[in-house]
Amino acid sequence: MKNDKNVLRTSIHNFFNEIINIFNNHSKSDKIPSPEKLLFEKRDKTSSSNIELNSFDVQIIPENGDIFNLTTRITFELSNICNYSLFHKKCPLFLENEKIILPSKIVYAVLDELGRYNYKGQIAYHNYNEPLIDPRLFKFIEHSKIKCPDSEIYFSTNGFYLNQIMVDELIEIGLNRLHISAYSKNEYKRLKRINIRIPHSVELVSLDERLNKVCNSSNSNNKNPCLAPFNEIIINRDAKISLCCLDWQRRYSFGDLHNQTLEEIMRDGNLINIYNRLSRGDRFLDICKRCDWSR
Ligand code: SF4
Repeated sequence: MKNDKNVLRTSIHNFFNEIINIFNNHSKSDKIPSPEKLLFEKRDKTSSSNIELNSFDVQIIPENGDIFNLTTRITFELSNICNYSLFHKKCPLFLENEKIILPSKIVYAVLDELGRYNYKGQIAYHNYNEPLIDPRLFKFIEHSKIKCPDSEIYFSTNGFYLNQIMVDELIEIGLNRLHISAYSKNEYKRLKRINIRIPHSVELVSLDERLNKVCNSSNSNNKNPCLAPFNEIIINRDAKISLCCLDWQRRYSFGDLHNQTLEEIMRDGNLINIYNRLSRGDRFLDICKRCDWSR
């Protein structure tokens, strides 16, 4: 019995060391790979493991050292404001009456915390919000680059406010990656003409019907591991940590950055328990049972 426990402990130790090594190896390279690439590598490792984990068995957040060893992206949802939401009846923001803004002091406090851990992953400024509508965005990007110079600063936008001067200035202060969703052919043509000297994409999209695609679908029987919520930590406009970007109703959210640090929330047993179960394919939450994705 004791021997079995030792074998299990060693296997778990090796398993998480492998995950940490993947992240570390990438961090040492000049270019940070996309979060999706890191995710697939980590998920492959998880899938090929036959380790049986029980809740709270694993200290996945080290007592000392890098608490972000499992994290490839930190996302700030700066508000619930988007200039297109009034036209888009299937946008979650269309249903909201009250404007909510994530306080600057919380964004700065988290960036300072990331800086203390020398965080090197991605820092993003979009979730269910249009980042360029927020007058504080430039300040946040500047501060991100000062505190985490090796991180990749990224956001996705509908491009409505974007022009050449703005792109140049964003790059100058530290923006590393940009995604633009153009919602009309004319906008697409205009945005494609902008010279963007960083990795970027411009995509022609439509105001789609995705609103309840996951929440209302039947069980998917998907048993693939999902690494949310530690792979991508989403700080929503309420200053809480969201389970993942699909949970637009914020049914599952954790902690409160108004009176806790990010580290305190990440060390919360409830969040660790959810990560442990999802990361081995145990999709026990209602939204996860219906979901075809992995994050
Ligand atoms: S299984 Fe789907 S809904 Fe659940 S956390 Fe992962 S991506 Fe989100």
